[in-house]
Amino acid sequence: MDNELNWSNLSFGYIPTDYNVRCRYANGKWGEIEVSSSDIINMHIAATSLHYGQEIFEGMKAFRGADGKVRIFRLEENAKRIISSARGIVMEPVPEELFRKMVIEAVRLNARFIPPYGSGASLYIRPIELGMSAQIGVHPSSEYLFMVMVTPVGPYFKEGFKPTNICIMREFDRVAPKGTGRWKVGGNYAASMEAGERAHSLGYSAVLYLDPKEKKYIDECGPANFFAVKGGKYITPASESILPSVTNKSLMTLARDMGIEVEERHIPVEELAEIDEAGACGTAAVASPVAEIDDLDTGKKYVVSRNGEAGPITTALYNKLRAVQLGEEPDVHGWNTIVEGI
Ligand SMILES: *Cc1c(COP(=O)(O)O)cnc(C)c1O
Repeated sequence: MDNELNWSNLSFGYIPTDYNVRCRYANGKWGEIEVSSSDIINMHIAATSLHYGQEIFEGMKAFRGADGKVRIFRLEENAKRIISSARGIVMEPVPEELFRKMVIEAVRLNARFIPPYGSGASLYIRPIELGMSAQIGVHPSSEYLFMVMVTPVGPYFKEGFKPTNICIMREFDRVAPKGTGRWKVGGNYAASMEAGERAHSLGYSAVLYLDPKEKKYIDECGPANFFAVKGGKYITPASESILPSVTNKSLMTLARDMGIEVEERHIPVEELAEIDEAGACGTAAVASPVAEIDDLDTGKKYVVSRNGEAGPITTALYNKLRAVQLGEEPDVHGWNTIVEGI
């Protein structure tokens, strides 16, 4: 069946794979790891995840490299982040070692779905944790289900590494000033759908959110962090209401490696008039270059890419990160976990 998949044309959708891996927390402890060949779960209709949004997730990718080896990118960072998300909404944190074991197991069991080197496709890994106890009163669950599912996804840039337009819309906030924005909580996505759909219908790829308290500074770009290049420096927002993106962290490290100065600080909206390049970064795209930022409330248009191409620093960082993921360049920071024997 995998031979029938057209790797380069896969979308960011869901393709069933052979197995997923599950573990339950009950009576104060995590149980045994279970391997399931069903993509259905059985849960109580009064589970806290369903009623009160006790749900968190992660997203990372595995790649078949130039040398034939399978690499999972920054597994440890994702393990740490889901622990932070769990603490943020009072769920039982998945121990780092259990997370690691289950992710590797899910990749290994579905090895035939890992796209070949050169296809531009990858195996997307989606760990998810749910509050499972039946209760109607609002308090944290005492039982949890942690699962790791995987699905092959195609190259993000099917028509080349081309910039898209994004927009600023003050009518909606995705998160509250000291709310759940710093954690990977499903509810944050629910809160962004209305604005996201509106932006798409107007021809924008995403909404560039401003800080929800003062609406003065850039926050993040829908489900991705925002970065810009200004006077040769990599700048990215410092904010309490954005998710610490592993991709952004990696790009900052690569930028410093290349001798590019990095600033993590407040970025006032007006400063968009002075930037030379911009991008949205996250696991799905690595970096998605921005052509133009339209402020729908003021009518101001910030033209970032004058020639319709991605800027040189964005392109260099994108290529470098991809090369590390694919084993084309040495992994000097130890970011990849090699899955042996598949
Ligand atoms: C997942 C996510 C990102 C990107 O994080 P990566 O670790 O780089 O994939 C950015 N912003 C939000 C809101 C996210 O949920």
